[in-house]
This record gives sequence, C-alpha cells and structure tokens, in this order.
Amino acid sequence: MPDFSFVISGFFIFRKYAIIQTGENMMKKNETAQKMMDFIARSPTSFHAIHNLKTSLLENGFCELLESKKWEIEAGKNYFVTRNNSALIAFKIPAADFRSFLITASHSDSPSFKVKENPEIKSLSCTVLNVEKYGGMLCAPWFDRPLSVAGRIAIAERDSGRVLLKQKLVNIDRDLLLIPNLAIHMNRDANSGTKYTVQNDMLPVLSLAGGTTLADIVAENAGIEKERISSADLFLYNRDRGTFWGADNEFIASPRLDDLECAYASAQAFIQAENPAGNATVLAVFDNEEVGSGTQQGADSTFLEHTLRRINSALGRDSEDYYTEIAQSFMVSADNAHAAHPHFADKADPVNRPALNNGIVIKFNAAQKYTTDAVSAAIFEAICKNADVPYQIFTNRSDIAGGSTLGNISTAHVSLKTVDIGLAQWAMHSPMESAGAKDVEYLVSALSEFYRTDVQTQE
Ligand code: ZN
Repeated sequence: MPDFSFVISGFFIFRKYAIIQTGENMMKKNETAQKMMDFIARSPTSFHAIHNLKTSLLENGFCELLESKKWEIEAGKNYFVTRNNSALIAFKIPAADFRSFLITASHSDSPSFKVKENPEIKSLSCTVLNVEKYGGMLCAPWFDRPLSVAGRIAIAERDSGRVLLKQKLVNIDRDLLLIPNLAIHMNRDANSGTKYTVQNDMLPVLSLAGGTTLADIVAENAGIEKERISSADLFLYNRDRGTFWGADNEFIASPRLDDLECAYASAQAFIQAENPAGNATVLAVFDNEEVGSGTQQGADSTFLEHTLRRINSALGRDSEDYYTEIAQSFMVSADNAHAAHPHFADKADPVNRPALNNGIVIKFNAAQKYTTDAVSAAIFEAICKNADVPYQIFTNRSDIAGGSTLGNISTAHVSLKTVDIGLAQWAMHSPMESAGAKDVEYLVSALSEFYRTDVQTQE
C-alpha cells in the first residue's frame, strides 16, 4: 500500500510538472520580437532596411521630402528624408511653435563582406567570389552556413553631355554561397585558435567553374539586361532567419540585431507616440556606423544638422531660434550593448553587468566614447521609470577599451544632451547574435515614453 500511494502522488506531481512545462505563458513567443525579426529578415542590407522603414512611414501618412528640392513643410504634419537610400531622418512637426527636438539615433548597417569589383576567381574546379571585410566581424561563424548576396545596382543611362543615374535594390533570395571550412584532418590546430585571412580563407564558393556568373544572377533578379548594370554595392548576408530559443523561448537569435533591433524599436516608438507638449520628434537612422560613420550618410556627416536647420528655416524660424532649440533638445543614441557572458564573467565589469531580458542598458564611459553623463542618465532613467521599464548599467572593465557608437560622433555636428543606450546581446558582430526576447518590447515602451516627454533642464 505505501508503494501504491507513492505511485499515485508521483503521478500527480508528474502531471502538474507537465502542465507547467507546456503552459501557454512559458512557451509564448514575444510578438514584438517576432515582428522585429521579420523586419530584419526583410532587411539584408542597409538599403533594404531603409526601404522597409520608408514603406512603413508612407503607410502611416508621412510625406517624403527630397534633399534636392526646396522644402515646403507645414506645422502639424509628418515628413521624412533619405540620403543615399541607406540613411533616413523622419520628423513630426507640432501644430504650434516648438521648443526642442527629441531625437533617437540608430544605424542601418551591420558587419558583413562586400563583394569586390570583378569578383569571380577560378580556384581548382570552382568559382569563388572576391570579397573584403565591411566592419569588424567575428569571422569563424561565417563558415559552413548558407549565404547570399543583396544590395543595390547602379544604372547610368547616358547620351551626349548627360548622365541619368538610376538605382535598384537586389536580393538573391535563395541559398547561393557558402564558405566551407577546412577539415580538422588537414588542420589539427583548428580548435586551438585560428587566424583567418579573408583573401585566402574566406572567399565564398559560387559555382563549379564555368557555371552561371554572379552578374547573370543579379541581372535576372533586377529584371534588366546584364550590360545595363554599371556598378553595384553588394554584400554577403546570412540566410538564417531569426528564431526564438531557450527552455521558455526567452532568447532570440538573429542576424543583424546590432543595430536593426534598435532601429526597428525606435521607428515603432516614433510612429506611435505624439508629444503633448508640442516638441518636434525626430527618428534618425544613419548608415556606415560599422566603418567609422565618416560618409555622406553616416553620423559623422551634415545629414542631421542640415535636416534640423532646414526644418527650422522652412517654418520661417531664424538661426537664433535654432540655437535655442538645440540647447533644449535631447538625443537618445540607441546601439546594442554587451550582455555579460556566462562563460566569460571576467570580461565584464565586476558590478555593471547587463543581463538579457533585464531592460534597457545605459552605457557610461569616462573617455566619453559613450555620451552619457549624470544629467542625461538622470533624464533617461526618469523616462524609463515613467514607462515602467527596467534599466541596467554598462561600463567596460577598466582595462578593456570597448567600442564606440553614434552619439559622440554626431555631437560634433549637432551638440546636444545625449544618452547612450542599447539592448543587451551576446556575440556582437557574429552573423547570428543572441538577445533577450522581452527587451525589444521594453525599448519600444521606453522610447515611446521618451517621444511623449517634455524634457526640461535647469542650468
Ligand atoms: Zn552597433
């Protein structure tokens, strides 16, 4: 009898355990994270990311302005402008005079390999593509996974004394390329630290020699004759789609979380939030952060400054108005952050160790590679509290230099109070990065609250 009773209670314990494990809450996938990963899947390059952001702004009634045309803008309306088709600034003009700009900045590009001019090289029986690094990536995880090519092509139509330039997006939406590893039998040291040379070790295989050329494939995808393509900006991308993982679907893994996770969340917040105090809200997504931002469409360009000045002058305000607006404005520089790694706890600061699903990371650095200071941190923390969103702190270990981001670069052109934030992630700059499934939603909430806030500082 005692044995029987044990079996019965054991049975019930087992039943209860099984129900908990398959219960809806435990297995539920975060919807915002799913939508964000869908956006990333549709955005293999910065050109595609900006195209997708532009589409969603148009769907939400925003009007497109061109940098090359005079701006006629009206109070109470919403606009956006793009530069190079790879960076975008959108803004909402309040109905009455505004006092300040509330700006988020993120970036559209991620580390990858750029396809060089004349890319095909014959190697033994194969054709491989000549590529070079774009940004500082982890090389090893690019091996042995299906890759493809996306970007834009340029078509220069000309007749005497005149050139008409057209551009077209391309995305070869199939498993096209792969960079095969060398077998362990031919490199017994492969697991003891390997140095990769892109030119020797990392050129992706396209075909058996004599097969279809990349130019043929790109032309077919673009729907034009090969001879009409003048030039192209093409990048490799990982074909894996973002996915939930972990015992309770608490993690996500996706290509390009840095920084499309922040770009997506900033755009969602910007579109949905209205500023009741009548301040102008601005969404800035720059390109080329991964190569130092020093391009026409990077954070180290005139794009933001010219856009803000043009808003001002189109509304009939003078330069004195501009200076007083900037002095009262606030920027959130949103770029992903390092979570402490369970295998490498000693790489993190002993105290300030961000964790996945623990909310927005506020980044500090004494050398001001992150712009955060006591004032901008206090403002952003108050915004997180108003939004009921958790936040946490990142600092580098004092003997590790760490990275830099957008805020400190942009401030050379438009100098204003800025906080550097991001979402915690592992494996930054891998073609498959991991983050917390709940954090994207936290960022949408915190940035929506930011866009709704009247930020006032007393000097
Ligand atoms: Zn980044």
